[in-house]
Amino acid sequence: MMGDWWSALQTLGECRENEPMARHTTLGVGGATRWFFRPQNRAAMITALQHIPFDVPLLPLGRGSNLLVPDAGFAGVVVDVSDLNDIRVQAQSLSAGCGVRMSRVARQCAEHALTGLEFMATVPGDVGGGVAMNAGAFGQQVSDCLSEIELLTRQGEVRTIDAAQLQMAYRHTQLPSGSLVLSAAFTLQKDDAEAVRERMREMRAKRGATQPLELPNCGSVFKNPQGDHAARLIEAAGLKGLRIGGARISDKHANFIVNEGGAKSSDVLALIRQARETVEQRFGVRLEPEVRALGETL
Ligand SMILES: Cc1cc2nc3c(=O)[nH]c(=O)nc-3n(C[C@H](O)[C@H](O)[C@H](O)COP(=O)(O)OP(=O)(O)OC[C@H]3O[C@@H](n4cnc5c(N)ncnc54)[C@H](O)[C@@H]3O)c2cc1C
Repeated sequence: MMGDWWSALQTLGECRENEPMARHTTLGVGGATRWFFRPQNRAAMITALQHIPFDVPLLPLGRGSNLLVPDAGFAGVVVDVSDLNDIRVQAQSLSAGCGVRMSRVARQCAEHALTGLEFMATVPGDVGGGVAMNAGAFGQQVSDCLSEIELLTRQGEVRTIDAAQLQMAYRHTQLPSGSLVLSAAFTLQKDDAEAVRERMREMRAKRGATQPLELPNCGSVFKNPQGDHAARLIEAAGLKGLRIGGARISDKHANFIVNEGGAKSSDVLALIRQARETVEQRFGVRLEPEVRALGETL
């Protein structure tokens, strides 16, 4: 039976078995996924869902910039949506396939003199990952401008959903389990193109000065608790620079964990647990992870 659906997927895109996920996450850690599928386009993605059995777990993958895959890997299908990458701008509306890089959205905004999503110039994920995480920075977030999404349900149905129904909050979006964001539509405001570009330049400069972008990482590991900063708490707990295996709590920014070479997922998880426990003991604040740690209850 397995052969049937897997053979069907091979006519719809690139298929690999036992693909190391360390190649597909910005942290550069994680074991192999049993199946890896990269649909050639949107139609192939929709058809594929009609073939993949319901009992096979499915993981949509953007750029893997917020994902921690365990060393034991993933016993399901990882779907790499990079080729679902159409983008369209009409007056103040921008719509993009889930595989469009957020930096490309930002470039389009600058070209069309649109404001609202400047932060996307500095975040390394895709539109689908950005919606799923309600990504944001510098006082902006996806939910500020998102008008609707197209959702592909696990049953293979495409539904248009109003952003208001997604219960989006700080780094949170409520998506039905097993579903995939196919595309997103944003409503933006007109501005001066040079002013938009200048804000993007300033954001990039700030980020480069404060974050350890020279080493593999997954961005902020923890969400900021109300009225405080996870980085401040981790630093105050004396954990900046702590190393376990090949992973370290960055010396430059305490809410970043960097892979200094040869890190395992278990090293990163051990640092996450230690930071969480120490901060809770010292300050009574329970940090909530922002990174999606697959199969782990943190
Ligand atoms: C250097 C660096 C800086 C960062 N800075 C920021 C920042 O300023 N602000 C911020 O918010 N984040 C930041 N991040 C984290 C990350 O870039 C964002 O969370 C981003 O939105 C993740 O997008 P992605 O495409 O890489 O998603 P992935 O990491 O591939 O996936 C993340 C989650 O989204 C799900 N997902 C992905 N695509 C889809 C889809 N099409 N449909 C449904 N679910 C999907 C995945 O299954 C997974 O659960 C940073 C990361 C790095 C490495």
